[in-house]
Amino acid sequence: MAPRLPIYLDHHATTPLDPRALEAMDPYLKQDFGNAASTSHVYGWRAARAVEGARESIAASLGAETREVVFTSGATEANNLALIGSARARRAHGRRRVVTLATEHPSVLDPARALADEGFDVRVVGVGRDGLVDIRALRAEVDDGCALVSAMAANNEIGVLQPIDEIGAIAREHGAWFHSDAAQAAGRLALRFDAQPLDLLSVSAHKFYGPKGVGCLLVRARRTRVRPQPILHGGGHEGGLRSGTLPVALIVGMARALEIAVSEREAENRRLAALRDRLLARLESELPGVHLNGHRERRLAANLNVSFEGVDAQKLLLALPGLALSTGSACSSAKTAPSHVLLAIGLPEPLARASLRFGLGRGTTAEQVESAADRVVAAVRSLR
Ligand SMILES: *Cc1c(COP(=O)(O)O)cnc(C)c1O
Repeated sequence: MAPRLPIYLDHHATTPLDPRALEAMDPYLKQDFGNAASTSHVYGWRAARAVEGARESIAASLGAETREVVFTSGATEANNLALIGSARARRAHGRRRVVTLATEHPSVLDPARALADEGFDVRVVGVGRDGLVDIRALRAEVDDGCALVSAMAANNEIGVLQPIDEIGAIAREHGAWFHSDAAQAAGRLALRFDAQPLDLLSVSAHKFYGPKGVGCLLVRARRTRVRPQPILHGGGHEGGLRSGTLPVALIVGMARALEIAVSEREAENRRLAALRDRLLARLESELPGVHLNGHRERRLAANLNVSFEGVDAQKLLLALPGLALSTGSACSSAKTAPSHVLLAIGLPEPLARASLRFGLGRGTTAEQVESAADRVVAAVRSLR
């Protein structure tokens, strides 16, 4: 049977809601609508109990303590809180430097730019051709005046996995807090907040089959005291770190989706890596001038980012109405500039403008992968 069209291959942008997460959310969208901060009646108590249950579950899934989970509207907000909040909190202690990577998501790079405007000393470290951090360059930028180092666990365009344990250890040596954007990593990689040198970790539910509009920032409460300044002021929710009424149903859905993603992670990664490798093998064997972007092994199981020599990716997308995929990050693909990630790995501009990002996911089947390969091969041939 031919797969239903268009075939969804944009799981880095977002994932569909797991029906089991929706089921867990359902009561909190209906009869149990209370405000978790209402302490004087049973509606509030029920909501608070649901939030605290979800907090325990999320903490357990990520190897954190319940008090380390700060709910946010998603990873964009968590990244802003981590960068801006940490830099401002540490300025008084003479720490004015913030170090991050050239391939970070805009929700890290833009707050870093805003911090530079506030007078912070922001250093953006480059990466190699394979997308991995230049660890010597990083070491050279991290000193005792460093407030924060921020390096993503997994890249949203080229899927590359940064050596976060090594980067965190360098930050630790200098008393800098270490933040990692784990929006693409949570539920896909084995992350243990307690066992890794992480001080702050950003998570987004809609990247692991949870609902959109919710996420969290893990904030270390053990050993080192990590305490960013809040960027949202108000009722003092979430230990004063993030004011605003909690979206109970979204939080419950996020916890359930993460439990499922973690429990199915290893089997799903094996399945997706095999499909991804099959797709790449077909593209590389059936078309000349195909370049894989990012490290061949150190990448997310479901990610493929490929440049097709001599082809404009925008035109290629138009020639592929049967595929739902993108040229790069959803956040910047509306812009016409080539991907900052592809430029950072040293790709010449024509090749950076010739690349597609394939993001496989839970709904992806072998039939879909064969159909996608047929379509891409035919479209590239006809455009050339
Ligand atoms: C999706 C994504 C974000 C933004 O997360 P939202 O919850 O959509 O705000 C941040 N960083 C990375 C790496 C992402 O993939």
